[in-house]
Amino acid sequence: MRNSLVLMAVAMAALVVATMTVTGRKGPTADMILVGGTIYTVEPDLPRARALAIRGGRIFAVGSEKQVFKHQGPGTVVTELDGAFVLPGFIDNHTHFEYAAQLLLGINLLDCSDSRTLVERVAGARDRLPAGAWIVGGDWGAYEEWAMGSAGGRADEVRAERFKPHRSMIDSLTPETPVLLNRWDRTEYLANAVALRLAGITRAAPDPVGGNIERDPDTGEPTGILTGAAIDLVREVIPPKSFEQRVLESRLALQRLAENGVTGIHDITRDEQMRVFSYLRDRGELTVRVYARPTLDRWSSLAAVGIRSGFGDEHLKIGGLKGFVDGIMGNSSARFRRPYDHQPGNNGSWRTMVLEPPGLPELIRAADSVGLTPQVHAIGDLAVDTLLDWFESAIERNGPGDHRFRVIHAQVVEEDDFKRFGQLGIIAEVQPYHAIDDMRWMEERIGHERSKGAYAFRSLMEGGAILSFGSDWPGTNASWYPAQPLLGIYAAVTRQTLDGQPEGGWFPEQRLDVGSAIRAYTINNAYAAREEDEKGSIRVGKLADLTILDRDLLATEPGEIKNVRVLATIVGGQPVYVAPGFDGLADSVTETARAR
Ligand SMILES: [Zn+2]
Repeated sequence: MRNSLVLMAVAMAALVVATMTVTGRKGPTADMILVGGTIYTVEPDLPRARALAIRGGRIFAVGSEKQVFKHQGPGTVVTELDGAFVLPGFIDNHTHFEYAAQLLLGINLLDCSDSRTLVERVAGARDRLPAGAWIVGGDWGAYEEWAMGSAGGRADEVRAERFKPHRSMIDSLTPETPVLLNRWDRTEYLANAVALRLAGITRAAPDPVGGNIERDPDTGEPTGILTGAAIDLVREVIPPKSFEQRVLESRLALQRLAENGVTGIHDITRDEQMRVFSYLRDRGELTVRVYARPTLDRWSSLAAVGIRSGFGDEHLKIGGLKGFVDGIMGNSSARFRRPYDHQPGNNGSWRTMVLEPPGLPELIRAADSVGLTPQVHAIGDLAVDTLLDWFESAIERNGPGDHRFRVIHAQVVEEDDFKRFGQLGIIAEVQPYHAIDDMRWMEERIGHERSKGAYAFRSLMEGGAILSFGSDWPGTNASWYPAQPLLGIYAAVTRQTLDGQPEGGWFPEQRLDVGSAIRAYTINNAYAAREEDEKGSIRVGKLADLTILDRDLLATEPGEIKNVRVLATIVGGQPVYVAPGFDGLADSVTETARAR
């Protein structure tokens, strides 16, 4: 850990290298000039430029070398890009930062279905976590379940063969660390000896009503496997997570985002995490700009203290409010007009916000009327159609204006609804990686016809939706969605899995061009957050948030986009990540300086 920090510091120093001599020019001069690569601005009147100057954390000049070097002064640092490709920093439209952070520091068992992996992961988490912290969660067996299900296995076979952990696998590794892990579907938990002791679960302890303490048939000792109410015996003794641990988790997640070229996130943020963001922001450690989204049912308490969407500063702000119409595809709870193909009789379900007073239409109208932008999860075709109706009626009742309503996910859309996005000015907050993950079973569940409107990014764009891209990092409890905009762009452009399936892409007519995919990760996300004057393109006066790639994304074969590397990430003019090896820059900068 310490070593990698040192390397990082060295690499950052390498990005900030040569100082050039004065030209005698008056007026403010640039802090930094980037030259020697392609600057892809996402601005229609100057899509590509040769050089870029930064001053005070903002874009100071962009254009030809001659135009930009006019702003060079004695303190200007000139950075040689060595052919790299610079674009506006990627903004991710949908993250669950806190959950991702917890998985990074703690334990992630999504792909674990054997004791060797379990042992490795538990040991890793034990070493990373601060002393005294519990190892909790994990979600073991998710990939195993998916693999068996998609291989045609029946549910009962899956259950018979599935991985069965035992505390004996981890007890010796965790003599002082309490552990409570869970299977991905939360039907089974595994506690280690320390956790059982703290919870008072002994050989003699009776099973609680509605729960089971599994016991070894020979010795009668608890195996660590707990179900139902027995889980609560352990949960009750887990202390609240320390603030220190939350900060450590967040630092890892920030590092991951920076490595992936992400400079802004639209996050689903709980109060505890907001405190952590705020703490990191005050210390200058918040290396990603956060647009935090509380839930829609809180509109009146936020409005009561004068908070509107956009409250905060350029590092951390309250964004729109998140609502929910229906469930998700993963467990077939997304709401459809007709039943699922694999579950006749199941149309999916509505969420509490729809069913309970005051009801979602009223929450949408009320929040919008006080300047809090509703951003609502809708996945099945009926959920999307109904939500569009509710947005339409809110516009009618609150009057025309700059509403910027968002449909979050918009996974399956009926043919007639695409144009309504355009008519109502709706933002489609979609996650292209969902497409290449879910497409493996979509047609099994909703059939070929309905799948034509699934993850239909081109139809949404052509229907006039503002297309907004992101990751949903780290995904549901059965899948890991990487917070890698380059993989999102790959997914949108190829509609193929990472190993290139199916040939030509899944419903290839929905593939996007690279330029549109870049806009969906930059300027469109800035617009979705009402920040298009501050972010999302390289224009004089905007924040200097930049992502530097190792090659021209628009000249890259679609299938190769997944191999493009992020060389550096700059937020507000400050490098927050520099790839190992990019420090070769140091020499070329000196040469450039000499040559000029
Ligand atoms: Zn989500």
